[in-house]
Amino acid sequence: MIFRKGNKLNSIIPILCPQCHKGKFLEKAPYDFSEFTKVRSYCASCGLKYSLEPSFYFGSMFVSYALGVALMVGVIAVSYWATGTFSFQNTFIAICIVLTLMGPYINALSKIIWANIFFSYREDSIKK
Ligand SMILES: [Zn+2]
Repeated sequence: MIFRKGNKLNSIIPILCPQCHKGKFLEKAPYDFSEFTKVRSYCASCGLKYSLEPSFYFGSMFVSYALGVALMVGVIAVSYWATGTFSFQNTFIAICIVLTLMGPYINALSKIIWANIFFSYREDSIKK
């Protein structure tokens, strides 16, 4: 763990269970397109049921939108910093490329962030 025990970033960055920070959250890696960012039903380590209700991860699209906008602003800033000028066409192309390449990871991140809004770290969860 990089961050202090219980910090949500220990779940978000490696995409692990929001309750125990040990079990896998996704069925496959984000860039494995066979099961595109499919969330597991339960945590193998602590038994947490990942979905509170049907279509639970539908709400993660709001997080995905925020991450996409933040990434867009980042690309604009880097583009301006690297070239010293602003070209709408080049910036637009750069944003399209970055969002396409980062898409699966943004999708996975948005789901784990959404899960971390509803589930918290429990130190005793692994002892069940
Ligand atoms: Zn767990």
